[in-house]
Amino acid sequence: MAPITDVPTLTPPSRSVVRAYIAIGANLGDAPQQVVTAARDLQRLGAAWVCSSLYRTAPQGASGPDYVNAVVGLDTLLTAPDLLDELQRLELAAGRERPYPNAPRTLDLDIVLYGDARIDSARLQIPHPRMWSRAFVLVPLQEIAPNRVDACHLHALADQAIRRI
Ligand code: ADP
Ligand code: MG
Repeated sequence: MAPITDVPTLTPPSRSVVRAYIAIGANLGDAPQQVVTAARDLQRLGAAWVCSSLYRTAPQGASGPDYVNAVVGLDTLLTAPDLLDELQRLELAAGRERPYPNAPRTLDLDIVLYGDARIDSARLQIPHPRMWSRAFVLVPLQEIAPNRVDACHLHALADQAIRRI
């Protein structure tokens, strides 16, 4: 048998850094502290990191205490599903429970954008399908990434009360 001479070197595909935007929300317990702690925890999942101001908003489609919200921008090597795994770990560590949809929560972490990716799987939709109708996402996102927010979308949400804290 002829010797095999032309064996290609197998190099793993190199992953590139992606800028993801993550919406943080909390309305149970010490909500401002939980949001700040989560923002710091997210810093460990990537290189560059930026966090918006904190905002206070009324719950949408639910009753309960007001929310504290923020958006973090993160340059990460994690894939979108791996990032969601990490976010869900942080939610669990913060005591997140899901008794019913839109229930009050100690911590909610949603991937709003992942670079320019469009994902529509059973577990993950990106861009987040409800981001354009939520002032608590668009206002903090606009603060740290104005080029990712269309002014028309923001104007359409002018009736949603949101206060910087
Ligand atoms: P919500 O944030 O909609 O109030 P949950 O935090 O309980 O509700 O999330 C419900 C499910 O939404 C998660 O189990 C997750 O699989 C799914 N999901 C889909 N797209 C996203 C996204 N972009 N970011 C976070 N979760 C998402
Ligand atoms: Mg969520």
